[in-house]
Amino acid sequence: MTIPALVLGCTATGCTNSAAVQWKRRTDPGHTLAVFACDSHAITLDAAAHVHATTCTAPGPSGCTCTPEPIPSGTPVQATPPNLPPGWATPATAPTGAA
Ligand SMILES: [Zn+2]
Ligand SMILES: [Zn+2]
Repeated sequence: MTIPALVLGCTATGCTNSAAVQWKRRTDPGHTLAVFACDSHAITLDAAAHVHATTCTAPGPSGCTCTPEPIPSGTPVQATPPNLPPGWATPATAPTGAA
């Protein structure tokens, strides 16, 4: 018996592909909803960096039809992963030779 991996599907209507990308859509002030899309329904990387409007039709045949929210200035782009707890780090070099 195997446990199936959790595969998130594309949220485009009628699409059964698994998701390749995600972005956020505004639901209420202060809340956003993650939207998933397969590669054929994906929007551009630039567009995915923004929070999209509730009425945005992406992912879908017409793509993004909203005016995404501007990215707040001064928002740091996380380029490096956060520090991992002890024991979670991967050794930088593989051990050489047989133990
Ligand atoms: Zn799709
Ligand atoms: Zn949009």
